[in-house]
Formats: sequence, C-alpha cells, structure tokens
Amino acid sequence: MHLYSTNNPNTRVSFKEAVFNSMPLDNGLYMPVTIPRLDEQFLNNLDRYTLPEIAFKVAKNLIGDDIPDHDLSAIINDAINFLAPVVKLEDNVFVLELFHGPSLAFKDFGARFMSRVMAYFLEKGEKQLDVLVATSGDTGGAVALGFLGVPNTRVTILYPKGKVSEIQELQLTTNGQNIRAIEIEGTFDDCQALVKKAFTDVELNKKFRLTSANSINIARLIPQAFYYFNAYAQLLKMDINKVVFSVPSGNFGNIGAGLLAWKMGLPVHHFIAATNVNDTVPEFLKTGKYHAKPSVATLSNAMDVGNPSNWVRISDLFKEDSKQLNQLISGYSYDDGETLNAIKTIHERNNYIACPHTAIGWKALKDWQNENKVEQVAGIFLSTAHPCKFPDVYSENLFNKIELPNQIQELVKKDKNYVTLGLSFGGFKEYLLGNE
Ligand SMILES: *Cc1c(COP(=O)(O)O)cnc(C)c1O
Repeated sequence: MHLYSTNNPNTRVSFKEAVFNSMPLDNGLYMPVTIPRLDEQFLNNLDRYTLPEIAFKVAKNLIGDDIPDHDLSAIINDAINFLAPVVKLEDNVFVLELFHGPSLAFKDFGARFMSRVMAYFLEKGEKQLDVLVATSGDTGGAVALGFLGVPNTRVTILYPKGKVSEIQELQLTTNGQNIRAIEIEGTFDDCQALVKKAFTDVELNKKFRLTSANSINIARLIPQAFYYFNAYAQLLKMDINKVVFSVPSGNFGNIGAGLLAWKMGLPVHHFIAATNVNDTVPEFLKTGKYHAKPSVATLSNAMDVGNPSNWVRISDLFKEDSKQLNQLISGYSYDDGETLNAIKTIHERNNYIACPHTAIGWKALKDWQNENKVEQVAGIFLSTAHPCKFPDVYSENLFNKIELPNQIQELVKKDKNYVTLGLSFGGFKEYLLGNE
C-alpha cells in the first residue's frame, strides 16, 4: 500500500510510515494512492461472510502485502472480537449498534486495530512507543482499552477535570499496566495544547518515541469501513439491497470510512451527515461555502467540532467530481432541544434508548426519509456510543431503564488512579521526564 498527502499528491509513503507519522509534515492527510474495487463475487455475496471475514477482505484490499495474510488475519481476529448488530426499530428504520466493544463506542474499531498494527510494525529491540492522547471523553477510553497490555507500548491520557462522565473517567483511570491518566485542571482544548506542545519539544522527542493516536491516523479509518460492509450484509439477509446510512458526525472520520467503503464498491444509495449545531459541513453542503468556526459546547459533546479534521479526506475523494459529492451526501444539524426531543420520541415509539449522538443520527434519517419519500430504501442510523456513557442527558426515570453492560458493573468496583496537573507545560514535561 502506498499513500500520498492531500497537500502534495506526489509524495509516497508506506503504510507503516503513515501509521507512525499519523500526519504528513505538510499538514495534509494521508490517502491511499489506489482504492481498488472489491471483486463482484464478494460484493454480491456479502451475506455469506462473518464480520472478521469481511474485515479481512476489506483490509487486504487496501493494505495489500504490507502485512502478510496470516498476520493480518491474527490482528483482525484479536481487534474485532465483538459484534456490530443491525437492529430493526420499524419498517425501513434500522440502528447499527457500534457500542459493543470494550469502551462502548465505535472508536473501539479504530483504536483496537491501530494499536495492534502499531505493535506489529514495532520491530524487536525498538524503543517503546509512547502514545500521548488528549480526550474529551470517548477517544481516551477507546485508546486506553485498545492499547491495554499491548507489548512495547505505553499510553498517557490527558482529560479535563470534571468534564468527562463518571463511566468515562472510570474507563480512563482504572486500567493500570501500560496506561496512565492525567487529569488536567482545564478544558479539553488545554489538554490538546499540552499534547501538541509535547510533540514539538526537542528534549521529550529525544528521550521518548512519541506518537499520537488521533482520528486522522489511517489505521483508525480503515477498520471503520468494515462495519458498513457488515451492516449491508445483514440487510441482504433480510432481502434488502438499497440502503441509506445516517452518520452522527464530528471530525467526519466515521462517515469518511463509509465513503471509503462506497469507493470500494459497497452499493450505498445515499449518506446523511448528521451534526449538532457545529454545522460546518451541513452548511457547506447547502451553500458550497466551507467556513471553519470555533466549536460550540453541546449535549452531544463528542461531535463538538468546528473544523472537522477528516473533511479534507472527503473532499479529496471527490476532487474530480464535486457534483457527485452533493448527490451522494446530505447534511442535517440539530440543537440540544431537538436532540432531547429525539431521545424522547425514539423511546416512546420504539422503546429504544439512544445516546445523544445517536439520536441526532436518527432524527436526520427521519427528516431525510420524509423529504425524499423513497419507500424502497432502508435507513440505517449508526449508534456511535452506549447511552450509559452520558448520564447527564437523561431524566432519572429514563436513565434507570438503561441496561448497564457487564463491563461497567465490573468497572465501578475498581479504584481510580490518576495524577492531577495544572496548565503549565513545564509541569507536564517534568511529569513525563520524572516517570519513565
Ligand atoms: C467520536 C464520536 C463521534 C464523532 O465521530 P467522527 O468520526 O469524529 O465524526 C460521534 N459520536 C460519538 C459517541 C463519538 O465518540
């Protein structure tokens, strides 16, 4: 597999280089030079394959011989060891549940695959890989649990004090082993700034092999294409072959992976980009003008992004035909009031409890279906996280109806372990140097 930078189409790097660099120095993003179409035999018979089998075919199609079949298959079987079921709520309305992994959010697909790919490429005797990650809640949990126990790696998570939910904090702070958590007396942006500064610090880079685990890493994107194929396979089993996906979107990695799947031949009728009031992309799809804005805090905080980092990849995919982009993707955005209403309505109609991000995906699907009256198209909205991660959003009555997954019942018995630091970079650096 070869990749280029969206800012310089002539550059060429290997998959390994792209995984460890995360981002090219020219500030573009890595894209595969070729995105081959999967063979028709496979595409027409998706329903005969399991999720790990589909994952192997899709990964192999992109990665080629950079990881030998036997090793790739081992990585996939280890990383994708949970299901992504499609659940029917009513006629033409299905939910793709992506929260059955260890951190209860779809980010488990990306984080688990990336951690194992990194460990695979680390050669014997190489310096330990030090992953630094800032989180507003969901990313940290997925990365921590993805790297937990992975040899020759260590993860340091920075999270904003008092701004993550109880379950999220437990996921960040109870791991031990090669995972450590730092609570920062500040905001998510402060955490992000400390991490960014560490990556440019000469002394730290000399001492440690630092890497980031953010969502622009190509090894996080690829595994997210798996579940689009697998969702389609599940619909084929119900004799449905025309589908629209509604994707709750923040940095646009998730929907970007869906478009990658489409590019590889998955016959998706339409995509819906569903956002909260951080509506940079829906606005672009309406007006043709892209205005990055500062992010606004909402109830669906994992989507509070004013300048989605993966949008560059999506525009790159359609650089030869921007009209096609407008035909294939619609955008919808909703405020917190509409989000709460959506949660209430899904519960009343379907007896289903959605997380706030997921509820936005449902609402966008319903609005698209009303506007387009396409009866033979099945709608799938992606459930990006389990509702128990966002307790503040629900009434007590509704929250009490949420079934806590087993791993959460285990988690609450564990002790939290973290250090607290202020906003000074000096203090953070001192901590890193003093805790080798
Ligand atoms: C990260 C996240 C999103 C946004 O996904 P992107 O790939 O950044 O668009 C949506 N919902 C939840 C629960 C998330 O954790």
